[in-house]
Amino acid sequence: PKEKVRKPEWLKREIPGGSAYAGIKSKLRELKLATVCEEAKCPNLGECWQGGEGHAATATIMLMGDTCTRGCRFCAVKTSRAPPPLDPLEPENTAKAVAAWGIDYVVLTSVDRDDLPDFGAAHIAATIQHLKEQTGGRLLVEALVPDFQGNRECVELVAQSGLDVFAHNVETVPRLQSSVRDRRANWEQSLGVLRAAKEAGARVTKTSIMLGCGERPDEVVEALRILRESDVDVVTLGQYQRPTRRHMAVAEYVTPEAFKAYQQVAEELGFLYAASGPMVRSSYRAGELYLKNMIR
Ligand code: SF4
Ligand code: SF4
Repeated sequence: PKEKVRKPEWLKREIPGGSAYAGIKSKLRELKLATVCEEAKCPNLGECWQGGEGHAATATIMLMGDTCTRGCRFCAVKTSRAPPPLDPLEPENTAKAVAAWGIDYVVLTSVDRDDLPDFGAAHIAATIQHLKEQTGGRLLVEALVPDFQGNRECVELVAQSGLDVFAHNVETVPRLQSSVRDRRANWEQSLGVLRAAKEAGARVTKTSIMLGCGERPDEVVEALRILRESDVDVVTLGQYQRPTRRHMAVAEYVTPEAFKAYQQVAEELGFLYAASGPMVRSSYRAGELYLKNMIR
């Protein structure tokens, strides 16, 4: 199917180059660290990695391999029913590499592993523990986790691993869940995961919604209201961008003004922090100083 709508000017931003960036890249090769920032050619890379006034240097790392057991219609990650086994040394090696890199804030994300009895929960929890140990607790850790098929013990294991922010994405408004996400995911289950994390003691919970999937503005506002009612602290809203022609088409490019209006709605609803804009990613400037101060 053809792209229905044209990409607007405000989304055309190049990923940064320059010598500082090249230096970081070669260091990462040495540390054998794969970042989502690079692999997704994220346009925010310069801003995130560098840190600066008001926010800490942030990067996103993908755990548990490059092959997912699910197939969401917006996602470019490879799919298989039986991905290769986990690397048992990954938690420790990742922690060492991130500690050597010296960033202030890391977002751990992963593929979904429905093939594993615990969906990878122990592996994620172990990585968080190693990261905290390797950095003497200095590094702030956000874990963006799968829904663990709603399994409460798995959520608790991760929520109590020493992380700073427990993140799980609802991705879209309730009505569009089944047309956007894998059939094993749904709104109620994801909301349950966020609630269970809070109940298990996670101090900060966070979620993201992609806009431009065909949702109506009133549905976005309603979704935000439900999320806040479920004690979710942080929300990000960004524009869906089709990774390839085989993926779900973009229904709409939401204007920067509309994003700003949602940000205001989120703030009025009482979210601790909201980021809303065309270029915003789930991990965009995750290390905001505001958030950092609140966690500490
Ligand atoms: Fe990396 Fe996320 Fe920042 Fe993009 S927004 S550069 S993926 S940390
Ligand atoms: Fe992509 Fe995550 Fe869906 Fe897997 S579960 S296909 S990694 S969005």
